[in-house]
Amino acid sequence: MTMNLSNISTIRQLLSRHGFQFSKSLGQNFLINPSVCPRMAQQSGADASTGVLEIGPGIGVLTTELAKVAGKVVTVEVDARLLPVLEETVGHLSNVQVVHGDILKLDLSKLLGQYFPDMDVVVCANLPYYITSPILMALLESRLPFRSITVMVQKEAADRICAAPGTRASGAISAAVHYYAAPQVLFPVSRGSFLPAPNVDSCVIRLDLHPTPPVNVTNERRFFALIKAAFGQRRKTASNSISAGLGIPKSTVSDALKALGLPPSIRAEQLTLEQFTALNEQLL
Ligand code: SAM
Repeated sequence: MTMNLSNISTIRQLLSRHGFQFSKSLGQNFLINPSVCPRMAQQSGADASTGVLEIGPGIGVLTTELAKVAGKVVTVEVDARLLPVLEETVGHLSNVQVVHGDILKLDLSKLLGQYFPDMDVVVCANLPYYITSPILMALLESRLPFRSITVMVQKEAADRICAAPGTRASGAISAAVHYYAAPQVLFPVSRGSFLPAPNVDSCVIRLDLHPTPPVNVTNERRFFALIKAAFGQRRKTASNSISAGLGIPKSTVSDALKALGLPPSIRAEQLTLEQFTALNEQLL
């Protein structure tokens, strides 16, 4: 029997039966707004021929909705205390597989080969906010053929991730994400949609992965180090930050900027992905 997993009294009864207490350090805020999970599942683009990788199922509220639209759902939960709960809530769903593990430690390539050998795969998750960026970067840097990544993140993180490089709100994560994908904000979710309610609002975003990056980078390792260094000291100019972060003379950076027709006073958030690429080539 399928339970109503967004109903507060059902959740409380379920959790108290299992003696479960929320862990703040694992980012456990469970969705109780019944309209959010169906929307996320639908907008993830998953269908009967698609596999979904979910991260952090909690009690399985989103998992249940994903199982309705996708061919298969593999969901990775780090908290062993939730395994018996998930057995009760989603154990009867034949297209759901719960994997106990830490998403940042699992071999994602092996996981995809094992569970989705010949399926298109999308990611859909209400992320634990304390590791939003590491999870997104691990998924993107894995270069695995995910079609898209639809995730709930803190509103501030959504704004930063989706900001185009070269615009005021951009940061290192914006540049890195735009290299791999086209991000967009799908819809906002208020803090009251969770149990317990966090003290921040959230947003669902979707990252559609590029078949090939929009810029041609010869040395990716150096490119990402350059971006990280440029944003390292936000109140300083890009040349000061890059010089300090990469340990190269400031004049070398200023000369490289000048050769590209850029002012020495330019800040990291004013540099587009194309300009970061060109600067990387100049400094190689
Ligand atoms: N999907 C559920 C929902 O929407 O109600 C729960 C979302 S809750 C924000 C985040 C979930 O991620 C929790 O179940 C937490 O235990 C799990 N989690 C935290 N760190 C994790 C990690 N490193 N790997 C896998 N799951 C993790």
